[in-house]
Amino acid sequence: MGKTIIEVKNLVKKYGDFEAVKGISFDVEEGEIFGLLGPNGAGKSTTLEIIETLRTKTSGEVVVDGMNLDKSPNEIKKIIGVQLQTSGYYPNLNLIELLNLFAGLYNETIDPYALLDKVNLRDKSKSKFKEMSGGQKQRFSIATTLINKPKIIFLDEPTTGLDPQARRNLWELIKEIRSSGTTVIITTHYMDEAEVLCERVAIIDSGTIIAIASPDQLIDDLVATGFERPKEVKKASLEDVFIQLTGHVLRAE
Ligand code: ADP
Ligand code: MG
Repeated sequence: MGKTIIEVKNLVKKYGDFEAVKGISFDVEEGEIFGLLGPNGAGKSTTLEIIETLRTKTSGEVVVDGMNLDKSPNEIKKIIGVQLQTSGYYPNLNLIELLNLFAGLYNETIDPYALLDKVNLRDKSKSKFKEMSGGQKQRFSIATTLINKPKIIFLDEPTTGLDPQARRNLWELIKEIRSSGTTVIITTHYMDEAEVLCERVAIIDSGTIIAIASPDQLIDDLVATGFERPKEVKKASLEDVFIQLTGHVLRAE
């Protein structure tokens, strides 16, 4: 076990009478990709946004890199990178203008081209945000999370709605970010994605964590109960066929 970088204890969030997060506890280790999995409405975004200091909690304790959320929200903000919904960008600014705008908000000096290189978008530097494909928009929004050289980045469903090539391309990018030492917290609905990317996952349902372990461990635990897949497992999936036929090359470039 590495060093704990995020500690969440008995976190509760109520919206009026409705308890969206029901006293969850988990730790995230420095340098891992940690997945929050769960159906729509499970409380994933609420939990992330509380840790990101963007939403208030009802009760419980959150400590990020040794800093208590109640006492040091501004210090926490400085060491995290948060991915905005792609609808939040000015559609008529180009990528360089957008990066410089964000850098100004963070009070950071950046090399916008180096950031675009990281996400493989240098050739789009003068394109307007609205002119990019879904995958390119997601890659760009990940670049914006890196502006303040954060220790931790939060990605809320970064691959939802992307085609298989763009999804795989984003996996590579997320792994590269982790390799450079950044801790990544990600939510996803795609279990294959969680299996490929995450060291550990928490499965959350109706505001409660019902399992937390490595994907491997969770699969082994299920198999140990005598579980078998109803159908004989083929050696490839339809997605494999699709990728084989259409290639790994990114589209809409
Ligand atoms: P997830 O990201 O897992 O889909 P959310 O955290 O967005 O789940 O939402 C958890 C629950 O809280 C849902 O039932 C949602 O409708 C409710 N909820 C989220 N935000 C609000 C809000 N601002 N006011 C009232 N209810 C909310
Ligand atoms: Mg959500």
